[in-house]
Amino acid sequence: MKKLFAIVFILASASVAAGQTSGVIVFKGAQLIDGTGAPPIKKSVLVIEGDRITAVGKEGKVHYPKNARVIELEGRTIMPGIVNGHGHLGLVVGTQNRADGYSRENVENALVQYEQYGVTSMMSLGLNRDLIYELREEQRKGTFPGTTIFTAGRGFGVESGAPPIPVAADQVYRPRTPDEARTQVREMAQHHPDIVKLWLDDMYGKYPKMDPEIYRAVIDESHKQGLRVAAHVFYLADAKALIADGVDVLAHSIRDLPVDDELIGIMKAHSVLYIPTLMVDESAFVFAENPAVMQDQFFKLAVSPELLQQFDSPEYRKRVESDPNLPKVKAAFAMGQKNLKTHRRCGDSCRIRHRLRCESGSHSGLGGASRTRADGSSGAHADASYCVCHAGERCCGRVGGHRNARSRQTR
Ligand SMILES: [Zn+2]
Repeated sequence: MKKLFAIVFILASASVAAGQTSGVIVFKGAQLIDGTGAPPIKKSVLVIEGDRITAVGKEGKVHYPKNARVIELEGRTIMPGIVNGHGHLGLVVGTQNRADGYSRENVENALVQYEQYGVTSMMSLGLNRDLIYELREEQRKGTFPGTTIFTAGRGFGVESGAPPIPVAADQVYRPRTPDEARTQVREMAQHHPDIVKLWLDDMYGKYPKMDPEIYRAVIDESHKQGLRVAAHVFYLADAKALIADGVDVLAHSIRDLPVDDELIGIMKAHSVLYIPTLMVDESAFVFAENPAVMQDQFFKLAVSPELLQQFDSPEYRKRVESDPNLPKVKAAFAMGQKNLKTHRRCGDSCRIRHRLRCESGSHSGLGGASRTRADGSSGAHADASYCVCHAGERCCGRVGGHRNARSRQTR
């Protein structure tokens, strides 16, 4: 571990020092996955100038200046930064969802943790306090650390309905009328969120769903404000209705029925993106049923000791096993997996955008988080991200972007 952290430190200081030397840093000897789908390059050379990856290729095939700073990475792997297209910040304190969790410190810890695990951009898809806009701004100035924030701001839910999570009143809008929804969209648009989120789900029949008049108003007003809309969905019929009304992103798997040709057809016709979030369903039972997954060092380092202890306790297992919704959650997870396969088979235009896309630069894929939004569209925020990995270790960093922000190990 020490050796790894030393490398992270060298990389961090190298990026700061780059301006005073030739400005060129070379990573040499690592296996390199470039994110284009091409086979990995076994012994690679990756050249960074300033905050850009300028060349990638096989050792001996890539030229770089003699006075470049060369960092040997034999035995390691370099891959593009991972983009989390649907995450949430500041919801958990210790082992609990809490309405007072959305603090600067809690959000910062999560963002630093993401970055250490190779996630270099994340979309916080709703349930954000307005603090998120300040933090995003500080990141852009280089004074706040962690993975690059994209945000849907608060998001639009239902009074006494989804999302049924304890959050502060200023973390989610719950409009009662279409007019109120439009006013709230306009209010949020002033902060320039990256996307708008809405929830359309009855949570296994437990809550009232959002009135179609309200989600139509949210979608229409968002589009008028130049914003795209991502919807939390569960049901196939809802997904079809939302797409007919202009939604841009399905933010979860369809989990009640197999996706059919009609859905695939309208998704292709409207270029709708699909974020499967399989882990959301699986996490409801996997730790209780398969505790072996928690023995992985990579996992252990990610989770707080209290949470690890909770997941490992007989009480937790009993609670999961006796949850009356458990069979439904498992069926939903299985359906989500099956539907992901269908989407995968159905071709490029509706395939999950798991690959990073570059707007410019010498190599597509690598450094793709530079100028890539979590939803695959191009954005203006630039930083070159990379990830140097070794089994079971957290080892990621970035060039440029937040180079002035303090970098930190949480443990
Ligand atoms: Zn969500």
